[in-house]
Amino acid sequence: MKRVLFLIGQIGAGKTTVSRVIADATGAAFLDIAGQRHASTSLRDQVARLPTERVVIECGGASADFEAVLESLVGTALTTIVKLVCPPEVAIQRKRCATALRLPRYGGNWAPHVLWTDTRLRSVPADATFDTGAVSLAEVSAEVISLWERSRPLSAPTGNLSFSALALWERCPLAYRFKHVDNYPGRFPRADPIIGSAAHAALAWLYADESVVPGLPAFLDRFRAAVSRTTPPGLDDLRTKVTEAETALAFHYDTSFRTRQDRTVGTEVGFSLDLGGGLSYSGVIDRVCESQGGWTCAIDYKLTRGRRFLASNVPDMLQIETYGVALMALYRLPVVEVRRHALPTGEEEVRRLTLNDIPRVKSAVRRWATRFAADHDYAPLPTKLCGWCQFRAPCPAPYVA
Ligand code: SF4
Repeated sequence: MKRVLFLIGQIGAGKTTVSRVIADATGAAFLDIAGQRHASTSLRDQVARLPTERVVIECGGASADFEAVLESLVGTALTTIVKLVCPPEVAIQRKRCATALRLPRYGGNWAPHVLWTDTRLRSVPADATFDTGAVSLAEVSAEVISLWERSRPLSAPTGNLSFSALALWERCPLAYRFKHVDNYPGRFPRADPIIGSAAHAALAWLYADESVVPGLPAFLDRFRAAVSRTTPPGLDDLRTKVTEAETALAFHYDTSFRTRQDRTVGTEVGFSLDLGGGLSYSGVIDRVCESQGGWTCAIDYKLTRGRRFLASNVPDMLQIETYGVALMALYRLPVVEVRRHALPTGEEEVRRLTLNDIPRVKSAVRRWATRFAADHDYAPLPTKLCGWCQFRAPCPAPYVA
């Protein structure tokens, strides 16, 4: 069976350089299909015809047929997917330097291309993600080669999974084990989940009945009451965070709730997606509404500020795309909209999904779940996030600055 390494990633993140270094170091054949749409069967044949056992493919990864390409190689190749990202401003700067005055092929400037690619890549799970704005390409190449050496065939997972469980495992497998396998009681209760749950409970109440318009004080009281109900004693950093959340909720009340043109269809709408082969994926959509233009929308409210560069391996946009797929199934719709709404700023990342997106989204979640199910080591992944980890006390290897 062939061993195929896909280097996907942001424009200007160093895919070509890293691909060539790895191909040279491992004796692999190198294929550049970045920026191309291609019939998946033709790529399978192309890979099969290459004389080497190893193949490095440089590929944008943002094209809609990327999951189909991967599926077409199942049974004929063992695939490893590595994502190279960098902050959008770094990508734009590199592109300007690299191309002088040359503009993108389809006109305009690089910024929209870079931002679109950034969003799209955030719905593609990968075996590893590297921020080439922070790590040298030589280091990335060495780490990718080591990862590629360790890749092995994985069996299909079964059971029920959720985004939060998968995201925690991706951030630190050991933290996942403490929480979901060992049911270890977190020694340090964290403010963020308490405030997040309280804010979502207050929003669900605010939007629950379209015929009633609660005032802002009642909305904020609802939030504070939820915080008090769920806060354990000894959580000292809560006051500042509660004030920040109140500011964000008041901003949302004034700029979104009071001026809304849409109609709420449901709040906290639960779903379970059947991914086939005994695997399912469940979640809860914060709010479903019908927009003035007639679109049915799934909205995910976040207490974090607007668009953030995500250097982690968590495919956060895949979360809202699963909401879109669930919405199409629940309400039997051919097209839906999904929105990630930042409460402190009102910024929204919006995607429109059609029935054609369902196989891609399901395939992406299955791939992600397959990697997760194959992990039986639950190795610690120390990062700066250890400072907020509930399991610092039992952890044998917390991050030390
Ligand atoms: S302290 Fe860090 S390494 Fe340890 S479990 Fe928590 S996140 Fe993982």
